[in-house]
Amino acid sequence: MKFETLAIHAGLDIGNPSKAIIPPISPSTIFEIDEEGRNPDDLHYTRLQNPNRQQFEHLIAALEGGETAAAFSSGIAAGTAILQALDPGDHVIIPEDVYAGNRMMIKKIMTRWGLESDFIDMTDVDNIDSHIKPNTKIIWIETPSNPLMRITDIAAVAELANSNNIRTVADNTWPTPVNQLPLALGVDLVLHSTSKYFGGHSDILGGAVVSKKEDDFFERVLTVQKMGGSVPSPHDCWLLSRSTRTLSYRMRGHNEHAGKVAAFLADHPKVEDVFYPGLESHTGHEIAKKQMKGFGGMISFLVDGDYDDTIKVVGRAKLIKRATSLGGVETTWEHRRSSEGDGSVSPENMIRISVGLEHPDDIIEDLERALG
Ligand SMILES: *Cc1c(COP(=O)(O)O)cnc(C)c1O
Repeated sequence: MKFETLAIHAGLDIGNPSKAIIPPISPSTIFEIDEEGRNPDDLHYTRLQNPNRQQFEHLIAALEGGETAAAFSSGIAAGTAILQALDPGDHVIIPEDVYAGNRMMIKKIMTRWGLESDFIDMTDVDNIDSHIKPNTKIIWIETPSNPLMRITDIAAVAELANSNNIRTVADNTWPTPVNQLPLALGVDLVLHSTSKYFGGHSDILGGAVVSKKEDDFFERVLTVQKMGGSVPSPHDCWLLSRSTRTLSYRMRGHNEHAGKVAAFLADHPKVEDVFYPGLESHTGHEIAKKQMKGFGGMISFLVDGDYDDTIKVVGRAKLIKRATSLGGVETTWEHRRSSEGDGSVSPENMIRISVGLEHPDDIIEDLERALG
């Protein structure tokens, strides 16, 4: 079946004995077992598994083209589980501009537990090659990166990793499987914050790991999920499956509107530079064209001015609300350096915008007003 069809049908018949078109929410934390502790669907206790979680895990695995998936209570919990599946002393290669929360998680927690890491420029495959060590176990890819929208060649990195027996992980939160399918390009594991486009309405927190193979490493991730306990609620899983049914069409809208907004910004005299992989002027455009079906809803741009000018711009919009995060139906933006706080390397005149599903003319009119 094609992607759009899978998004609507995959997972619906799991844990759904009444054949309801929309499966019920199963809030029960416990399931009846036989005298010897068995349950026919292997359901015992909701931390371990729940019908709504099974439905969503099946759905996201189908959409990414993986054999299996594990859902978590947040994107960070999913990323942490991948690293906790490693052993102390293992080494990981991470993009220098990796999602800031993952950087903090690695530096403040995993490093104390013996994880070794190098944060490097991932746009250059030779640079990655030169950082591989005998104990390197994971190469982490995030493309487009945040907030500079740098593009990494997924197939090239996966090939390098495979030839060195190293696992690759791709954080596919921004592009979503509608725009980019890392497993098909040779990657082993896909990571998601489902709080973004999968949820799509700024009202669910969640994460997931999708694995190409049901292998020993994924078993370790599952152990962290079940024994670490950062699991999503049945209600959140149900809502997430509901949102995912429209993911294909929402992403088409985000792609289309962001393309228009990026073109508008690129032409505006008060804008110094625009970072959007769909623009021909973007340094990663050729690779992006090769590996992405659409360029997504996220744009960063530089105001032609200093810190104060930029703060004024984000203050003048009426329709576009100031907020962090991304992927909702509403357009939001933020002065990225202020959001990232101490240690931010974002330029003082950078604004990051999550282009929503309002009519693009209204978004552009508000941008016109804000840029003055
Ligand atoms: C938001 C985000 C995360 C973290 O997810 P949470 O659901 O906020 O924990 C990880 N990676 C990327 C690319 C993100 O945008």
